[in-house]
Amino acid sequence: ELKAWPKSKSGSCERRRRAVRTMMGSDPIRDWICGQGGASKITRISPVGGGCINTALRYETDSGTFFVKTNRDVGPAMFEAEAAGLEAMFATSTIRVPRPLKVGPLPGRGSYIIMEFINMGASRGGQAELGRQLAEMHKASSSERGFGFDMDNTIGSTPQPNPWTSDWVAFFQEQRLRYQLQLAEKQYRDYDIAEKGQRLVDKIPSLFRDVSDIRPCLLHGDLWSGNIAADERGAPVILDPACYYGHNEAEFGMSWCAGFGAGFYNAYFEVIPKQPGFEQRRDLYRLYHYLNHYNLFGSSYRSSCMAIIKQYTNLA
Ligand code: ADP
Repeated sequence: ELKAWPKSKSGSCERRRRAVRTMMGSDPIRDWICGQGGASKITRISPVGGGCINTALRYETDSGTFFVKTNRDVGPAMFEAEAAGLEAMFATSTIRVPRPLKVGPLPGRGSYIIMEFINMGASRGGQAELGRQLAEMHKASSSERGFGFDMDNTIGSTPQPNPWTSDWVAFFQEQRLRYQLQLAEKQYRDYDIAEKGQRLVDKIPSLFRDVSDIRPCLLHGDLWSGNIAADERGAPVILDPACYYGHNEAEFGMSWCAGFGAGFYNAYFEVIPKQPGFEQRRDLYRLYHYLNHYNLFGSSYRSSCMAIIKQYTNLA
């Protein structure tokens, strides 16, 4: 009796699992790969490490390998925005990005994205090539609607609003700095940073006095070393974007985590020359990402934010 009981229980469990799977419909990732993906057999599914937010998997099939990310908690909007960003960068034919293939909801809850699998090389690839190709992407892109993007996206897991705006300074003031300052005020009751940060926001136009023309460039938006790789030939690959059309200099806002050297910047500025006042705006663009880190990871980033705010506003 005692021996029979676990056996029959596990048998009925398996039957129930199968019934639930049938009720919920089959696995949409497998369905796509074996349908439009052109595979007739998935030979192996294995985890890919290194991500921050999602579960990453490698699907090997008889018609090539696919890269899949899943998120159990959020609907497809986040991956739809990632796919739109990848597609926009891909369309410039300048720097390698994985081609997005499919986004959809998971049964019950969650979502997935399927994209081209890129065999990442062991090294990061050349700095100069990265700088040149990034500048070429910035240069090749164009936006008829000004600054912003077709949809909002996320920076880390923080929402990043991208409403189309004709004026860059107004966009950066409202949608980037003020949005993060208000988030800090709301979640930490940090009225101090919100108030001092606002003084900086009011001063921003003066930092652009010498710039005659700001063209909307397609930005990766979250360019740090975790999102920079190289393919099997050593060519640069950029991943996991938070794309929008913005001032090209804003792309260097994560440079404190990107390890860009002189080779990178020299190659970049050969394609897009440095604009007057570049150095004075460098920390301004970093502040957006420092504020985001403060909002995501807490108080250890607060002093870096305050240091930049004070530097621009000369507060004691
Ligand atoms: P997350 O959204 O969780 O931050 P990432 O997009 O950074 O995840 O991807 C996680 C890891 O998977 C990366 O570190 C990278 O090495 C690898 N990866 C990302 N995209 C691809 C791809 N298209 N092909 C192969 N590996 C990839």
